[in-house]
Amino acid sequence: MIYFDNAATTKPAKSVAETVYKCLEDNFGNPSSLHALGLKAEQAMSASRKAVADALGVPAEMVYFTSGATESSNLAVRGAAGTYGRRKKKVITTTVEHSSVKEAFNRLEDEGFEVVRISPRDGAFDPADFIRAADENTCLISMMLVNNETGTILPVKKVFTEIKRRFPDIITHCDAVQAFMKIPVKANDLKADLISMSAHKIYGPKGVGALYVKKGVRLLKQNLGGKQENNMRGGTEAVPLIAGFGEAVIQLKDNFAERTEKLETLRKYFTEKIRAMDGVVLNSREDAVPYIVNISVKGIRSEIILHFMEEKEIYISSGSACSKGAKSGVLGEFGIRPELEDSALRISFSHENTTEEIDEFINALEEAQKRLKR
Ligand code: PLP
Repeated sequence: MIYFDNAATTKPAKSVAETVYKCLEDNFGNPSSLHALGLKAEQAMSASRKAVADALGVPAEMVYFTSGATESSNLAVRGAAGTYGRRKKKVITTTVEHSSVKEAFNRLEDEGFEVVRISPRDGAFDPADFIRAADENTCLISMMLVNNETGTILPVKKVFTEIKRRFPDIITHCDAVQAFMKIPVKANDLKADLISMSAHKIYGPKGVGALYVKKGVRLLKQNLGGKQENNMRGGTEAVPLIAGFGEAVIQLKDNFAERTEKLETLRKYFTEKIRAMDGVVLNSREDAVPYIVNISVKGIRSEIILHFMEEKEIYISSGSACSKGAKSGVLGEFGIRPELEDSALRISFSHENTTEEIDEFINALEEAQKRLKR
């Protein structure tokens, strides 16, 4: 099996699976319970909270666990608008966000907010477009760090720094799902008040994520219920998944440079092979992250190749995994022509992939071109 769909989800590390299982077996207490079993569960959560916080360079009490990045971003966007948008009715985002942020903004629009959606121009964002859009009536800006379909890195630090300089009260949110533990993500450096993260993109379990909330930022609670997570999110915490999340972060933090180097090598090897092929176009920019590469095979629709590859046990994605094959429009926003959008494939690497796997994929792609072209 060749797994090149790591932007959709990653295979949990062995130590993560063991940590989750051990926690399910030995640490089943409710962290809110006042007895020793509750304390033990709370301690497991605290260790994970510290691991995530350390990675972001923030104090542990500013990290809140959620059911995943979708919930984190819903809480960030709707929670910030709920608190700071009572009088200030303008919010800013981009046209290339993941549906978890996009839909939250669509809902704000339905509720009467003015939503400004900034588009890239010639495949890149101009920070000046965001600065021009911001004013005294703006309460929130949300911008992803790495796009999940193309691997494009957005100029979050530049935009947030300038926004905060001019309008310190605007709340800044970053969906860092495809960046966290893969490229440096430090809250203070990005000037982000809120950062969404997900465990299953970093070799952790599915169904758990986190939201960083800068001290002093008040969010209108969305998951109503108990006072868990410092009253930010009701509901008993998923302790085994949270323990697995922490283990995933700890596993990744030590060999950051080594992994990045490996991914750079894989990308270089892959893009050289792709460039040498006729009828295949690279859609990702050279300055994109190395672990997400978007290509189009002219004249063959994405799904056709995807299933052809699947028969060879090679797993890739067409566009964004969350859209279940439906066109998200994001590639078009990045300037990719409609006929190439229909045949776009997302290859997303893990540091465990090899150049031999790339060779096998390229061979399969050549075979697909011969057999499937209309
Ligand atoms: N944001 C981005 C950029 C993503 O790629 C994804 C997952 O595909 C999400 C958010 C949603 O994350 P989760 O599956 O944890 O809800």
